[in-house]
Amino acid sequence: MPEIDMTRITDNLMSVYNYAFIDAMPYGFYKPNDAMYVGVKLVDKMYHCPKCKGEFTVKYRNDNDGITYFSKSRIAAQKQVYEDLSLDFPANWELMEKPFTYHIVGVCSECAKKDIMESQEEGQHIYNLCHQLHLLDELMAAKAKKYMTDSLQKWLDGITESSYLMQFDLSTRESLRDLICAVILQDTKAVEDALQEYRDAVQPIIYEAKQLLEKQTPAWKANVAHSCSLPDSMSDEEYHEYTVAFPDESSEGQDFYMEKSIEKERVSMFLTQHRLTSLEEVLMDAGFHEEWIDMVVDKGTSLKK
Ligand SMILES: [Zn+2]
Repeated sequence: MPEIDMTRITDNLMSVYNYAFIDAMPYGFYKPNDAMYVGVKLVDKMYHCPKCKGEFTVKYRNDNDGITYFSKSRIAAQKQVYEDLSLDFPANWELMEKPFTYHIVGVCSECAKKDIMESQEEGQHIYNLCHQLHLLDELMAAKAKKYMTDSLQKWLDGITESSYLMQFDLSTRESLRDLICAVILQDTKAVEDALQEYRDAVQPIIYEAKQLLEKQTPAWKANVAHSCSLPDSMSDEEYHEYTVAFPDESSEGQDFYMEKSIEKERVSMFLTQHRLTSLEEVLMDAGFHEEWIDMVVDKGTSLKK
């Protein structure tokens, strides 16, 4: 179970989505022992799409002196992937010494558009609905922050005299904070509209997914979207800092679809989570952003010139 923070609805939704579809392993705090893990000089990963034969490579950051620990089961699975791709798997002694590429077979987002995303097969369709829901949850949170920032900007744009701004107490961060919150609360129309749109969009998705889920077996396999720029753990049982490789910052956030086993109970948990329903919740969830203080201070400075 992920730790659930009840204070932020959006964070909570994100961690439950990850629990259901992405990362099901617990975190371990010890250094892997040699009997269970193999050190590998991992430098990059290469994605192969069997449908269009497309390939692309993502470099890893050079952490832990370039050595990443693979669980033995992962090494065995990777050997199989090498074999399937007709590549020569390095000898044991070479793993620590020579640059190693991790190969991943999965459907690229272009090809996924045609069959995976349009699939009417029920297990896949349930995942697709959940993924759509996840994107809507994230979009709502992003819109809330943007529209709140816009409200403040609009108010600042309307100020032409420094005397107008000076009538407010701008002496402390607390007083600036209070002023900014009051300004944002006066102009919440865009956030309210976005919330209404979000609620109208998520309700039918949740309804349909729940209906399908009822008839579903406790577990099934489906193709799940993975972002290529997220860290990869090379351990099947448990992950810790020695088994995780971080893609280079230049890696693009492209999605790849890979088969994963899905558990009904986890999907149900994701679908039944509390989602943003009221304006108060949206504003609380978006929180306060320090850059808003800078916007007011910058305005004050520009008027004094
Ligand atoms: Zn493809």
